[in-house]
Amino acid sequence: ELVNINELLELIMKRLRPIAEKQNVELVLESFRPVSAQVDEVKLTLALSNLAENAIKYNNPEGFVHVSLNADHQYFYVKVEDSGIGIPQDSIDHIFERFYRVDKSHSKEIGGTGLGLAITKNAILMHNGAIRVHSEEGKGTTFIVRIPLNYVS
Ligand code: ATP
Ligand code: MG
Repeated sequence: ELVNINELLELIMKRLRPIAEKQNVELVLESFRPVSAQVDEVKLTLALSNLAENAIKYNNPEGFVHVSLNADHQYFYVKVEDSGIGIPQDSIDHIFERFYRVDKSHSKEIGGTGLGLAITKNAILMHNGAIRVHSEEGKGTTFIVRIPLNYVS
């Protein structure tokens, strides 16, 4: 179905805003272009919600989460950037595995099953998309999702 991605992201932000406020994390959405794309709305919402939720959960008080949307003639891009705790280099290759959680006392206090990113990656691959991650411990993490504008299943 043809989905308005700007609206989809606004809805995700609206749902997560109370969680961000509780943790004193600033949540910002920047839409550089209007984007409509042929996607599975439910699966994509779940995939992007997981990324934004993680960015809030693994953050610091007074931290930020910046979500941005951009597009070219072939793809749209969603970037989720946070100022959080970061991911150790030797864990980066594992975070998309089911049940994997970074072994830190800090992340043990934070609820979760370790399934979120596995679900996210599956949904993105289902759309013939791609996901990349950059992270620096103690500084923050950025996930970049790229999805074709007219994926046909
Ligand atoms: P769930 O999403 O199932 O509730 P979860 O958040 O622990 O649980 P994932 O979303 O799959 O599971 O993430 C896997 C692990 O990757 C997390 O436990 C955390 O250690 C690490 N991680 C994910 N996103 C971030 C992030 N933005 N910053 C720092 N660490 C992260
Ligand atoms: Mg998660």
